[in-house]
Amino acid sequence: MSTKNPINEKMTGEGSTEKHMRAGGISVETDHIFPIIKKWLYSDKDIFLREIVSNAADAITKMKRLCSLGQAEADGEDYKILVRVDKTAKTLVVEDNGIGMTEDELTRYICQIALSGALEFIEKYEGTPTEGSADSGIIGHFGLGFYSAFMVSEKVEIITKSYTGAPALRWVCSDNGSYEIYDSDSESRGTSVIMHIADEEAAYLEAAKVREILDKYCAFMPYEIYLETGEEDEKAEKKPINTTSPLWLKRPNECTEEEYNEFYHKVFGDFRDPLFSIHINADYPFNFKGILYFPRLRTEFDNLEGRIKLYYNQVFVADNVKEVVPEYLFMLRGVIDCPELPLNVSRSYLQNNVYVSKVSAHIVKKICDKLGSLCQNNRAEYEKIWGDIRVFVEFASVSDRKFFDRVKDSLLLGLTDKTFVTINEYREAALKDAAGDDKEKAEVTVYYTSDPAQQSQYISMFTAQGYKVAVLDHPIDTQFITSAERVYEGLKFVRVDADISALASGADEKEKENKEIVKLFRKAAGDDKLNVKFVSLKDNRAPTLLNLPEDKRRMDDFMKQYSFVTKTEAGPALADTTLVVNTSSPAYTRLLELVSADVEKAEFLAGYIYKLSLMAHRRLDGEELSAFLSDSYDIICGI
Ligand code: ADP
Repeated sequence: MSTKNPINEKMTGEGSTEKHMRAGGISVETDHIFPIIKKWLYSDKDIFLREIVSNAADAITKMKRLCSLGQAEADGEDYKILVRVDKTAKTLVVEDNGIGMTEDELTRYICQIALSGALEFIEKYEGTPTEGSADSGIIGHFGLGFYSAFMVSEKVEIITKSYTGAPALRWVCSDNGSYEIYDSDSESRGTSVIMHIADEEAAYLEAAKVREILDKYCAFMPYEIYLETGEEDEKAEKKPINTTSPLWLKRPNECTEEEYNEFYHKVFGDFRDPLFSIHINADYPFNFKGILYFPRLRTEFDNLEGRIKLYYNQVFVADNVKEVVPEYLFMLRGVIDCPELPLNVSRSYLQNNVYVSKVSAHIVKKICDKLGSLCQNNRAEYEKIWGDIRVFVEFASVSDRKFFDRVKDSLLLGLTDKTFVTINEYREAALKDAAGDDKEKAEVTVYYTSDPAQQSQYISMFTAQGYKVAVLDHPIDTQFITSAERVYEGLKFVRVDADISALASGADEKEKENKEIVKLFRKAAGDDKLNVKFVSLKDNRAPTLLNLPEDKRRMDDFMKQYSFVTKTEAGPALADTTLVVNTSSPAYTRLLELVSADVEKAEFLAGYIYKLSLMAHRRLDGEELSAFLSDSYDIICGI
């Protein structure tokens, strides 16, 4: 049969079961479009099935709509989509009982492709497909979704019967773009797309492959999808492969936690329950729905890669869509259904789209709101998960000032006594005795430890005086407290070993400064410029303690974090360290006696005391440790 006839020219099909045949070429430009379809979508071929199945779903939606408007009559049959793999016939068929097409529609929608946009694009880029362009979904951009079938087919047939009762038709198109239209005897309303799979694409005739694609893209489509593969065990199960009403469509107040968890397990293949979920059901000002999860990340080996699955009207569009959630919320998992996005969206489209950025901003707001409501209304639960979410919340806070401002009232500090307070509560407690006016202006210091074991001496001195010490032991904390000092007015973070003047008894120690003692300690430290300060501490036991100013040490931490210096060459800048001599300590009194009585003993005692303060401050190196042990043995022997 000839296929050279111009479009819509009627012919009588001889030797064919069909009564009439019309033939044509898709359009003069088909020479261009067909090779492009094959070439440009190469890396993402699987989407052809999504395109064809979602066309089928659209056709059903249209049918339902017409019925509800009274413009068509429902026949009582359940709406469904059938995907049939026939290895012998080498066909993959997608069948629906939707609206169907009349001849006029078939010609307009299928034969005359709206090519203007596509052609312009092709003219610009033809011959220079770049990496990643394949994923950009050119075809979908120009409403050519149906033609993606040609990525895998050498011939595509459509058998369709319109709901209007117009005669059924059979359209056959080869991969060079020439087509024929026949009358068909088909009795049933709807459309079958029969894809004759090309030999080199035989993988698409494998049931497992087809199931995998359907699972990925069609798992939540709104109409039941059945897969028929002709395999033995198939007959028993006649279950749809999809869930037609995914959880995100339900009203949040109708969903249970079990349902959220179950949905999470299923969609993300994580057997653990998430820490919490956020159900977004926005109708206005922009319409999108979704469920976000904060996963439980227990070990360092956990996959930190979050996954946001983007859907368009229940059709899967893309995984890991960073544009929809800001990068600092990388650990989030979830599904977002955005009916206002085109089905085929490119990364650059997402990046520059106002709707997407609004969606993203709304998601951020929802997360902050959730943290706020957990903190306010479910404090015990919130404290339980704080350990898991803290680092992420702090990271998000330092990354985005807006985020920080929003979660400002729900940031917890874990204290050394294993309790939690919000930063505001810490502040309130510190100011509980201050008068109203002073309270407003007062500076509050949050004392913290970055290493409870190493800094235990300092911690116990602070807690003994009634101070609460926060544990901020993650590398992000250096950045976090620096940002926090900007966000919370009048708040300072000071590590317990940075400044112990808060523990002083208040007596003026100026006259107790003793040059001889300074000399002794400088000698003990091997540093003749060592800063030495005399303070009378309320706790009289520790004779000396080392202090390294917060700002200097923080700078040092930053340098280490950003690898300006190696970890080994770093270490606290000794030049900035101050040795605080506790004048209320009996050991200090003894030292004063010895300075004039027995210099040798005085030097020994000063050396020993200095080593003790080093030990309380940091881990001793090998030489320091043996010197300390040797001194200790001498003392024991002298007993
Ligand atoms: P798009 O879906 O983006 O409009 P397509 O190339 O996928 O572009 O489809 C073109 C048109 O063909 C559709 O808009 C629809 O009118 C018609 N069509 C495609 N598949 C079907 C189907 N299964 N049933 C009815 N009409 C269909």
